[in-house]
Amino acid sequence: MTIEDKLGLNIFHVDEENSHIEIDKDFTDEKEIQKLLLACPAECYKYNDGKLSFSHLGCLECGTCRVLSHGKIVKKWKYPIGEVGVTYRQG
Ligand code: SF4
Repeated sequence: MTIEDKLGLNIFHVDEENSHIEIDKDFTDEKEIQKLLLACPAECYKYNDGKLSFSHLGCLECGTCRVLSHGKIVKKWKYPIGEVGVTYRQG
């Protein structure tokens, strides 16, 4: 079973209106941005044409981006409230 297959077993109850993570979209240090692109297992971060973007919809709540950014890119990180977020399933 591949990693993608295992990730596909997870269930997401997403609050599409409210992200539990907020980033500085104007951040420009490409070296720091590349770290996030490589580290996020859900590929929530995208960097195209010199512009950083983020979507919380597939976030696995691992916290890696929060630790890596040292408060520079990730401005707010908290677990989703209530029944919202990822539910892990073992395959
Ligand atoms: Fe990606 Fe993990 Fe950060 Fe979610 S918490 S955006 S999965 S690195």
